[in-house]
Amino acid sequence: MVQSNPEHVVNKLRNTFASGKTKSVNFRIKQLKALAKLLDENTPLIVEALTKDLNKCEIESIIMEIDVVKNEIKYILMHIHDWTKPERPSKSLANVLDSVYILHDPYGVVLVLGAWNYPLQLALNPFLGAIAAGNTVLLKPSELSPATSKFLAEYIPQYLDSEAYQVFEGGIPETTALLKQKFDYIFYTGSSSVGKVILEAAAKHLTPVTLELGGKSPVYIDSSADIEVAAKRILWGKCANSGQTCVAPDYILCSKEVEDKFVKVAKKILTDFYGEDIKSSTNYGRIVNDRHFQRILSLLKGSKVAIGGDSDASEKYISPTVLVDVKATDPVMQEEIFGPLLPIVNVESVYEAIEFINSKEKPLALYIFSNKKKDVDQILANTSSGGVCVNDTIMHLIVMSLPFGGVGNSGMGSYHGKFSFDTFVHNKGVLYKNLGYIGELLSCAKYPPYTKGKMRY
Ligand code: NAD
Repeated sequence: MVQSNPEHVVNKLRNTFASGKTKSVNFRIKQLKALAKLLDENTPLIVEALTKDLNKCEIESIIMEIDVVKNEIKYILMHIHDWTKPERPSKSLANVLDSVYILHDPYGVVLVLGAWNYPLQLALNPFLGAIAAGNTVLLKPSELSPATSKFLAEYIPQYLDSEAYQVFEGGIPETTALLKQKFDYIFYTGSSSVGKVILEAAAKHLTPVTLELGGKSPVYIDSSADIEVAAKRILWGKCANSGQTCVAPDYILCSKEVEDKFVKVAKKILTDFYGEDIKSSTNYGRIVNDRHFQRILSLLKGSKVAIGGDSDASEKYISPTVLVDVKATDPVMQEEIFGPLLPIVNVESVYEAIEFINSKEKPLALYIFSNKKKDVDQILANTSSGGVCVNDTIMHLIVMSLPFGGVGNSGMGSYHGKFSFDTFVHNKGVLYKNLGYIGELLSCAKYPPYTKGKMRY
């Protein structure tokens, strides 16, 4: 890995931004199309990198990484001409002769810090949002997914303009050095604890940030739900990428009766998904590194395993594991699991579920499985979370017209679709006054000497 120092890289990007090159909408479109081409022409290499990093299977890599980015590019290309146009807001009688409009100014030099769990999608989606908005961008992929990081560092310069977009590889020392530079916007995806480091560094330059963080995303299931369908959708959300998904269902809140039904159907569903020997299934992933592997296993302490509980350190394999009789004080309920453990905590009513959810930090996602609209509305009205998906998990992320982001401990700001564009622009309000005689007559009340007569205007 040979790269110049952060100061030089940022200066280069700042000079390119000052040249105005990235502000041209046609230039942005060309770059976005080049990024789509990069994905199209190198799909096998991307799949190979994702397999190396996370043992992701081909289909999951295509659906949950490559296609997500391609769809985002398509959506942006469809709308970019509309979004970049100056907006004409309403105006009052006092400005009848004037123009009032909003310009969508790119911020300048944007730093995007990617995460390792969806190392392609979580690096490229904010990256392309910043491009669409007309910025120059420094992308730092996660060092914890080195194969994907290397791929991005090698291939982005082959397809995109290197004066405007740079990839910077590295871990904590490199990120620390980058954060000393002045950026015009920082977009970070990762843990809440590192989120605080980013926010502190950004504060030194008053740099605005988006923080896409994590948290324990709860699932509430009541007895009106179809438990088999609910279990299928929850286990899919939990087991994808071995639970290393920021919006993975973290734990379940339900009655004992629902828990019994859930456990009964879950065994069969897991066999349907992965066969009798889950470890040998090509559809099931691995934990990213030893640190996370040991951390997840340590969360099992004191919990009653109803399904799974198997692991193999040599492969960083942990089987899908359902835990029952879990108490709020158990280790598994103290932090975001970010692995394939699914604890079930018993609650007797929707009110108890709401109280439980509100006793914890605000989650990134909240899932409700119910056919009782009144109870669903009750939860929606009385809890706070980044987003909500009723009767499914994770799927709210791919609705392009919805903002995706956290609140409180799960983050600040949002992106996807138009929200990505909005994230990376400053909305500059412009009042363009008329200089003529009538315009001046309408303005005269503001000049001294102030008289009661003028106050009538
Ligand atoms: P992390 O937050 O510990 O590390 C992320 C990056 O931060 C690394 O690349 C590392 O180099 C850098 N870093 C770590 N310590 C640093 C320091 N002191 N100074 C500067 N940089 C530092 O990653 P993690 O905890 O393994 O990530 C998992 C978390 O990310 C989970 O909480 C998950 O929910 C969250 N996440 C959120 C989203 C989202 O979209 N909201 C997506 C993926 C992951």
